[in-house]
Amino acid sequence: MADVLSIINPATEALIQEIPVDDRATVAEKYARARAAQLGWAALPLADRIKCILRFRELLIERVDALAALLTAETGKPITQARNEILAVPGRIDFFVEHAAQVLAPERVYAEPAVALPGMGVLEEAIAQEPLGVIANISAWNYPYFVGGNVFIPALLMGNAVLYKPSEFATLTGGAIVSLLHESGIPQNIFIPIIGSGLSGAALLEQPIDGVFFTGSYATGQKIAIAAAPKLIRTQLELGGKDPAYVCADAKVAAAAAGLADGAFYNNGQSCCAVERIYVHIDVYDEFLEVFMATVKSFKLGDPTDPDTYLGPVSRKPQLSILADQVADALAKGATLRCGGERLNRPGWYFTPTVLTEVNHTMTVMQEETFGPVIGIQRVASDEEAVALMQDTPYGLTAAVYGTDRERAVGILHQLKTGSAYWNCCDRVSPRLPWSGRGHSGLGATLSLAGISTFLQPRAWHLRAG
Ligand code: NDP
Repeated sequence: MADVLSIINPATEALIQEIPVDDRATVAEKYARARAAQLGWAALPLADRIKCILRFRELLIERVDALAALLTAETGKPITQARNEILAVPGRIDFFVEHAAQVLAPERVYAEPAVALPGMGVLEEAIAQEPLGVIANISAWNYPYFVGGNVFIPALLMGNAVLYKPSEFATLTGGAIVSLLHESGIPQNIFIPIIGSGLSGAALLEQPIDGVFFTGSYATGQKIAIAAAPKLIRTQLELGGKDPAYVCADAKVAAAAAGLADGAFYNNGQSCCAVERIYVHIDVYDEFLEVFMATVKSFKLGDPTDPDTYLGPVSRKPQLSILADQVADALAKGATLRCGGERLNRPGWYFTPTVLTEVNHTMTVMQEETFGPVIGIQRVASDEEAVALMQDTPYGLTAAVYGTDRERAVGILHQLKTGSAYWNCCDRVSPRLPWSGRGHSGLGATLSLAGISTFLQPRAWHLRAG
């Protein structure tokens, strides 16, 4: 009998469903099917592929209630945030569809003005864009529609076949995505799910795929990079972060505090670009903390199916001990607990929203990815001190600066190595802008034109008329 995945509801700890997982043999069989089908898919007119994706867009909107309920059940994401995620995908689809033809277009880059060689015709040089072929899309659970869709939508539009491995913690949503895409006209052999844990992901990497697009942790990203290296295939890694924000002395403090509380706690802090460290200039620290605490205390914690809930349970049980350990480490080293810091005494993996002050960089909460509802706030005396602390991380996903002086904020952001830079905003992603990381936050970019062309490879044509 095949191994099964047990899908657990994080809010109740009840078993939702057991699902058989793929093993090496079924992964190999799925790979072979994708390989056999890919060239036919790539040969279709782009308009046919676009038609399928636009139907998928319609179905997401039509079925949002059921899809959001499923996402909430298996990840504990509050229902309002689950709907927000699904309903933001059409905007991304619009960007991909509007720019697909432009990115795929062949380009004549040179035409000889006159015949150079006796007896030969004129020379022409052109660049054609070709799909990579069969790619692996190994996805995370925290935003399955976003992080999956950023890969599979442009990959399919560009003519690739996709072997899609949802996280085991978002398997039902992954299955729903697969069904919707097939119902939208994407052939069964062009978008194929690989179901299971990391073992199924590892089996997928044993196949002779043409590219791997991974979203997940730095630790797993390293394993992916090592497995992919001998294949010499396109390898894209969207990894974690320890994203800092700095509130300058000239900031609009109340707006900064409210915005940063949301940036730290939205989706229970389980966002790759969640604000994970906050530095506040000493001149505005007290005012900042007052508004920040009031905002955090206004967040409703509880049943994720309630539309008013802002914080549900964390999605993965092991995260509870990581959060408790970070809080204990900080307190042992002199931090002050302003609120939270404990598990709720009820079924479900609930951790109370936690604010720590008097923190410093000897504490794991200011150094390691937290990925949960815990934030450290540190007082700083100058912009220079803030910059030094913000730079003190191997990650480089995003950084935010709050202040009224644009030149000063941009100057600070220029000193930081991050894929995204935010002035008076945070925890924000746009389909028009590349999403990428520096250092331990990853390799390559999704979204923007770069996030479409990454699913293509150029071919050089040297054409001399005979
Ligand atoms: P993981 O790294 O644990 O897992 C990511 C995916 O890789 C899952 O599908 C997982 O399967 C699979 N996997 C695990 N081991 C292997 C292996 N050896 N070979 C192949 N695949 C494997 O990350 P999480 O799912 O827990 O996601 C959270 C992390 O993702 C955080 O660090 C977060 O910051 C990051 N992230 C980054 C984003 C970005 O855009 N930069 C966006 C969203 C999240 P399974 O889950 O079944 O074990």
